[in-house]
Amino acid sequence: MGMCSFLKFCIYCGTEGSDDNPVVGSVCLSCRIRRGDILSLKERELQVEMCKSCYSIRVGYRWLTTGGLEDAAKEVIYRVLPEKIVPSNGVTSLEIVGFEFLTEVSWRTLVRTYLKGKYGGVEFKYSIDVVVSFKPVKCPRCIMANSREYEAVVQIRSIKRPRLEKLVGSIVERDKRYVESLVDIVVQSNGIDLYFYDKGTARMFARTLARKLGGRVKIKENYEVAGMRSGVQRARLVISVRPSRF
Ligand SMILES: [Zn+2]
Ligand SMILES: [Zn+2]
Repeated sequence: MGMCSFLKFCIYCGTEGSDDNPVVGSVCLSCRIRRGDILSLKERELQVEMCKSCYSIRVGYRWLTTGGLEDAAKEVIYRVLPEKIVPSNGVTSLEIVGFEFLTEVSWRTLVRTYLKGKYGGVEFKYSIDVVVSFKPVKCPRCIMANSREYEAVVQIRSIKRPRLEKLVGSIVERDKRYVESLVDIVVQSNGIDLYFYDKGTARMFARTLARKLGGRVKIKENYEVAGMRSGVQRARLVISVRPSRF
């Protein structure tokens, strides 16, 4: 009551704080670290799909090539873990500065991750142990290489690239159907090719992209011969998206 409510002091150790031990939200830095609540984790086990043929891992909507289990675990630590960390009140500039494998690198590996950040403006170091676990699957690229069965390709041409890549990402990330159907994204000198398992998703993508580009593009469909299967001639849909002045 009275004056006391205006004073900052730590509810655990009573300190009023010092230059190297600031109090934020009624808890001092050393108590935060001692109690392990300087940050929290949405998940302590980071489960990521990994292709058992080529070691690619799925990060969001994208399949990322890696050099094997160790390299893949590193990618998970730097790309997936940050999204699982929730900094406490008062914590800023949090970043991962290193890691170490606590168990032999395998499909399930215990990893100690080192972080640094600032609490009330004062730098601190911290470490957390997480499990990186890979779920063995086959990536779309390897499935495609084996079966060559993708049904459609969307070829985007003559649209400024940095903006286009962002736009493509924002469309694909939003809908699970794209993650499931998108086989590969290949960047060409004059555009981007997107390979889809099925025609419907490819068309949906082309239409969404055209709408986001404000109708200044033209969509054209063609079929190309894609070989015989069970005695039936198959055709692959080619959708081209380009500025309407072309
Ligand atoms: Zn304290
Ligand atoms: Zn693969």
